[in-house]
Amino acid sequence: MSPALAAEVRFLLTVNCSFDALILGGGAAGLMCAIEAGKRGRRVALLEHNDRLGKKILISGGGRCNFTNLHCQPESFLSSNPHFAKSALARFTPADFIALVEKHRIPYREKTRGQLFCDRSARDILNMLEQECQAAGVQIFLNTRVQEVRRASEFVVRTTTAEFRAPALVVATGGLSIPKIGATSLGYDLARQFGISIKDPWPGLVPLVLEPADRTRYCDLAGVSADIIASAGGQQFREKMLITHRGLSGPAILQISSYWKQPHPIAIDLAPAQNIAEPFRNPKAPRTLLTLRNELRKVLPNRLADRWLDLHSPTAWTNQALTDFDHHLHDWTMIPTGTEGYEKAEVTAGGVDTGELSAKTMESRKVPGLFFIGEVVDVTGHLGGFNFQWAWASGASAGRAL
Ligand SMILES: Cc1cc2nc3c(=O)[nH]c(=O)nc-3n(C[C@H](O)[C@H](O)[C@H](O)COP(=O)(O)OP(=O)(O)OC[C@H]3O[C@@H](n4cnc5c(N)ncnc54)[C@H](O)[C@@H]3O)c2cc1C
Repeated sequence: MSPALAAEVRFLLTVNCSFDALILGGGAAGLMCAIEAGKRGRRVALLEHNDRLGKKILISGGGRCNFTNLHCQPESFLSSNPHFAKSALARFTPADFIALVEKHRIPYREKTRGQLFCDRSARDILNMLEQECQAAGVQIFLNTRVQEVRRASEFVVRTTTAEFRAPALVVATGGLSIPKIGATSLGYDLARQFGISIKDPWPGLVPLVLEPADRTRYCDLAGVSADIIASAGGQQFREKMLITHRGLSGPAILQISSYWKQPHPIAIDLAPAQNIAEPFRNPKAPRTLLTLRNELRKVLPNRLADRWLDLHSPTAWTNQALTDFDHHLHDWTMIPTGTEGYEKAEVTAGGVDTGELSAKTMESRKVPGLFFIGEVVDVTGHLGGFNFQWAWASGASAGRAL
């Protein structure tokens, strides 16, 4: 027998493959679910195909993990059913997660708008969750690739290394974003297998790609950023916009991208709450390109102000032409050619139809014992720590029901 085969046989002999609950996916939601279920004395197996847990936690928030938001409200989430998330979010709040962070003496701070980040590194959050899993007796199986899921008298998960069985199965495999660190479609595939409907997924919190003519006009300004209001799909966000080599990014654009669908336009207000025509009401104000440039430079970064003026200078120096110029500045409407896709998206919007799940426990209404939590569900947070809060809250709700 080869050493590799011998090791596998030893592994199979040592694993007691029968559990109270199997959790597929060792990310934010799966870890929280495992901790809650383990604390209640459940024998839990957490199966993860990567060689380590929580890879997305480690890269989140620029390496500092924006782990929650103090102003977490149902309005900070996008879902076909805006009421669905309320129950779980009320059961496990930002304060509950902060209590855990403080118990582990992890230094953190509020950066802006209620967003809480680690002072040191996202590693602190992952260490904390791993320690909690250990304390709760959770058994973790890394490098474990799911090959088949069946439901007989209980759920049977066949993997490359062993066959696991339990009366409850929790799908916490996340969405399609960032395939290079392990995202797969397993969650959606399992939903389909069990006859559970899905709202078509799309990349959210993702940079937008401008159409070629706009790219030529603006993208050499890559790196320039401005305070704007971006509007689409009945939503608007006032935050920073960043010009990139292929289009637009920055918080305002990432936020609106989750609400944008082709072929609809996006409207950008480049000068929120400013009236660029106002100074020209003074009869003494010279109506020249130089004066207008100076006014525009008070509102926009110089390079963007100059470019805007080059491309859209007033057709005349009349009051009406100046008013039109001002209106255009507040309503720059464009139709992006697309987004940077799942390779760059921070989240996957859409997912398992919330109408299929209990809002209290995340259990399938059709298939008792089958749960879906975290990003695989059709609940998507705004930028700012809301997606983790949903992962913790939905994970805790399911974990307490196991
Ligand atoms: C670059 C980046 C930065 C982000 N920063 C933030 C932030 O600061 N704050 C915030 O709130 N949100 C942030 N997010 C979003 C947040 O990370 C996710 O919403 C959250 O991790 C979702 O948790 P989850 O457990 O549902 O899924 P995931 O964290 O994606 O976990 C799913 C797990 O399942 C595993 N898996 C997948 N397929 C299989 C399979 N077939 N078999 C076994 N295991 C499988 C994956 O390897 C992974 O470990 C960020 C996302 C990205 C991409």
